Amino acid sequence: MPPATPRKPRAPQPARARAARRMAVPQAEAFLRALAAANPAPETELQFHDAYTLLVAVALSAQTTDVAVNKATATLFQEAATPAAMVALGEEGVARHIRRIGLWQGKAKNVVALSRLLLERHGGAVPNDRAALEALPGVGRKTANVVLNVAFGQETMAVDTHIFRLGNRTGLAPGKTTRAVEDGLVKRCPPEMLRDAHHWLILHGRYVCKARAPECWRCVALAHCNFSRKVLAPPA
Ligand code: SF4
Repeated sequence: MPPATPRKPRAPQPARARAARRMAVPQAEAFLRALAAANPAPETELQFHDAYTLLVAVALSAQTTDVAVNKATATLFQEAATPAAMVALGEEGVARHIRRIGLWQGKAKNVVALSRLLLERHGGAVPNDRAALEALPGVGRKTANVVLNVAFGQETMAVDTHIFRLGNRTGLAPGKTTRAVEDGLVKRCPPEMLRDAHHWLILHGRYVCKARAPECWRCVALAHCNFSRKVLAPPA
């Protein structure tokens, strides 16, 4: 029996085959300015009344759509829109409103626990300080960044799944981790655009530069994007 033909070794793959060539700083600025021109006053799609309800809404939004969170909070906030009311409502009460969203058991527990800590440590107010926010149950860097940006006007960049994909796919801020993408975006985004850039990128990733197939044919930033496999016509 002849010896088996040895398999041809596979060509080495780049560490992140889907990351595009990193944009030059002026190109990154042009990319963001194109998004800005199309949506000069972007806003979060989460519904909230104040810093506390924003914090709760963002904490509930992990691995869930904003639409689902808004449905849950529409009734939750009618019953409890302050830390004291949320603690009084308790985990069971919170769970009644959020059962349709992902990870609801852990989220109900966290919402009550973070409300209790806000009362104990901050007089019921939401702190405008990253360390204090991240010390709350269920609040990580991304949630803290959204609250600091939207409620307190700080120039933060919350990197969710859409922004992580966009940063890598377009070359705007390639990085292996959400923190690397965040740091790349903060470094390369003009300071005056940083607050709104978070919203532009999330909305662009959610509605145009979609995960499965980007709709490049209707992308306002097409001319500035480094993605090598642009989709230039809608499916037939
Ligand atoms: S939609 Fe296409 S052209 Fe626009 S940013 Fe995404 S990959 Fe680039």
